[in-house]
Amino acid sequence: MRAIRRFIVQPVLPEPLKPLSRLATNLRWSWNLDTRALFGDIDPALWEEVDHDPFKLLARTPSDRLDILAHDKRFLRRLELTVADLDEYLTGDLWFQKWAKEHPEAPRTIGYFSAEFGITKVLPQYSGGLGILAGDHLKAASDNGVPIIGVGLFYRHGYFRQSLNASGWQQERYPVLDANEMPVTQLRDGDDPVLIPVQIFGNEVKAQVWVVQVGRVPLLMLDTDIDANPGPMREITDQLYGGDAEHRLVQEVLLGVGGMRALREYCRVSGHAVPEVYHANEGHAGFLGLERIREYMETGDDFDTALERTRAGNVFTTHTPVPAGIDRFPIDRVRDQFSGFGPLPIDRVLDLGRETYQGGDPGIYNMAVLGFRAGQRANGVSELHGEVSREMFHGLWPGFAAAEVPIGSVTNGVHHLTWIHPELLNLMQPVVGDSGPQIHDGCDWTALNRVGDQTLWSAKRHMRTAMIEMARKRLHASCRSRGISSDWVDDALDPNVLTFGFARRGASYKRLTLMLSDPERLKRLLNDPATPIQIVIAGKAHPADNVGKGLIQQMVQFADQEDVRGKIVFLPDYDISLARPLYPGCDVWMNNPLRPLEACGTSGMKAALNGAANLSVRDGWWDEWYDPRFGWEIPSAEGISDPTARDAQEAESLYDIIENEIVPKFYNRDSHGLPTAWLKMMRDTVQILGPKILASRMVSDYVEKLYTPAAVSSRQVEGQAAADLAAWKRKVRAAWPKVQVRRVESSLSDRVAMGAEVPFAAWVDLDGLNAEDVGVQVVLGQVDADDWLHDLEIVPMTLDGTNERGISHFSATVKAKDPGSWGWTVRAVPKNPLLAGDVEMGLAAVAPGE
Ligand SMILES: *Cc1c(COP(=O)(O)O)cnc(C)c1O
Repeated sequence: MRAIRRFIVQPVLPEPLKPLSRLATNLRWSWNLDTRALFGDIDPALWEEVDHDPFKLLARTPSDRLDILAHDKRFLRRLELTVADLDEYLTGDLWFQKWAKEHPEAPRTIGYFSAEFGITKVLPQYSGGLGILAGDHLKAASDNGVPIIGVGLFYRHGYFRQSLNASGWQQERYPVLDANEMPVTQLRDGDDPVLIPVQIFGNEVKAQVWVVQVGRVPLLMLDTDIDANPGPMREITDQLYGGDAEHRLVQEVLLGVGGMRALREYCRVSGHAVPEVYHANEGHAGFLGLERIREYMETGDDFDTALERTRAGNVFTTHTPVPAGIDRFPIDRVRDQFSGFGPLPIDRVLDLGRETYQGGDPGIYNMAVLGFRAGQRANGVSELHGEVSREMFHGLWPGFAAAEVPIGSVTNGVHHLTWIHPELLNLMQPVVGDSGPQIHDGCDWTALNRVGDQTLWSAKRHMRTAMIEMARKRLHASCRSRGISSDWVDDALDPNVLTFGFARRGASYKRLTLMLSDPERLKRLLNDPATPIQIVIAGKAHPADNVGKGLIQQMVQFADQEDVRGKIVFLPDYDISLARPLYPGCDVWMNNPLRPLEACGTSGMKAALNGAANLSVRDGWWDEWYDPRFGWEIPSAEGISDPTARDAQEAESLYDIIENEIVPKFYNRDSHGLPTAWLKMMRDTVQILGPKILASRMVSDYVEKLYTPAAVSSRQVEGQAAADLAAWKRKVRAAWPKVQVRRVESSLSDRVAMGAEVPFAAWVDLDGLNAEDVGVQVVLGQVDADDWLHDLEIVPMTLDGTNERGISHFSATVKAKDPGSWGWTVRAVPKNPLLAGDVEMGLAAVAPGE
């Protein structure tokens, strides 16, 4: 018989144990070893059974066991200490508090919007890298004391769970998540649940809000699955990335518009400081910009003024150079949704996201474009990705060089306390009383230098063994569900063998099956009697991506062959619980995307923190921080346009490096059986690379480069200033077509001695604008054969005077610093201290060519 309703019996903890529920509802337990150990000791067997979920543990611990603990003095003492530690963590002065003392302009609060958050497996509200990154962002913000509030959606089915059928084809399951069994609380105003209203295609939808505490950081998640909504509206938050474009659009309206409203309600009810900065993590959250404009217009601003205020505080991060990865909606559907959205003129709303540039489609509403136009500051997620994004979105700022496009970069990082294996983390604990520049984020990054080779190598062996235990458990389950024999599983993988990891989404640019290009060569590597390798693979393909599923199947069928079985294994259902033991268990982390399509990639960082070397195409972060001390680069054959030939060449390099460099280095042992060169690489990777690839570094970069400037800009456009700025922009836009650099003057000869002061001058028609509104600049650079300028240097010119016909004379001198072939031109750009840069308005008047 099926139940028609469910109810939850809440555990009643004996009075002395009550603080346990506080520990369980703050997700800091997920990265705090002491808290986890405390939960583990409540009932070790049950702790394993509930898969390290404190909430479930407390719900299921038998009451006689609880009674014993309630009288166990040592346990109670530990509990007290753990709670005191949490309190100190929640209230103490951390990095941000110190930083803000020296930078009083720092933001009071930041709203951080993301379609997915991957924090712990008990809250499966993520699909892959983007979500894990957002989770790590919140955790590191918490550890650093950065005042952030996260905003997302609560998906009733989360993302799908993956299994395989007998032939290796991906199967998807969508288990129902019950908020009552999760460490979340409903946002309430007194006794009443707070319900967020949002008009979606004419329907009045309401969303309840779940709040989860991520250390110091609250995360709000909107959920439309409530009785008050008609059936179809309850399905809005059914699953992450589940539906068609229309469904995505609806979810994004809820996230952006509803998310802003939930944030307002949360601040009102809790008394939390209201954000000054709003960060859209990828385009999914872009509609928050429209809601902010609406808020300002409701208080009397016109559209342009409201837009200036919104832009000042909005930060947009783009996460993909793959065009198909960017949300693009039919513009008519956006018109249907946002017509009558408060006082916003619909045409202006549509113009914000319309692809009105060369190569764009004006019938499309592009969420990345909206992000750039509704925010003054934007970034990519690695240096290379910043560069690629500047090229990709160059059309939004025509008239400027791609290098000047105002998209910067903050390289992603990972939350080390989540991702470093506990045994290694313990080795990196600072010695008491020790302090120095190498100690930050609670770790001593040079600690491994004090650890002997033997200790380090045995720690790595434990990490490999733990991973193998996890893998065998999953392989057993997988064989059972596939209906195939598992008699080989107990011997699968070997803790002494050189172990490669390769786990990623099934997206085709990631080239899951590149390593299968020459199956016989791979088999020789796997089966070498003296120096074998083994490979652990995982990854989900999007349910609608049959190509990706085909690649997984190809991989699984390869691994099913008897001569390699147990040496190359595919572990289904890649998620945080699989990932956490996987990275530490690997010696080499492999990544072979089609360069430059991997925006950053973070799995290699997680592996590196555990002493694994990277073997990767120099894409994303590995382009920036590759160093032979930390691993190997697979040469990218970007010059070859035939994809098959390119794959073949890159695959060959991959095999060559493994065979000629990696295998000998790993198996070359000293008289104690230790791979000294390998251990050196492990130490270098953790010690030198470790501190750079941290989420705490990333979050402080955001605070310094983006959040604080955005907070400053926000305050600068308070009051009348926003309207003045909007009026000034209108004036400049209207005059601009006639602003002209009429003539340049130079006494420059073809050859100039290094160190000489070179004079430049130009006559400019400002067409009624004055020299305060317009910056006139010499633009210098190295020239190539086609006269294109590179490595630009911009030198402002000063006004000398204006002639009787209203033409102004500007001049500057520049020191000829470097030898080589130089070129120059003169241009005029709008100038205003409230602009984030010369390029912001996309307007430039460049001197006519000869
Ligand atoms: C880190 C991680 C990812 C992202 O890895 P990429 O290298 O960015 O592809 C995806 N899924 C899980 C479970 C992860 O832990």
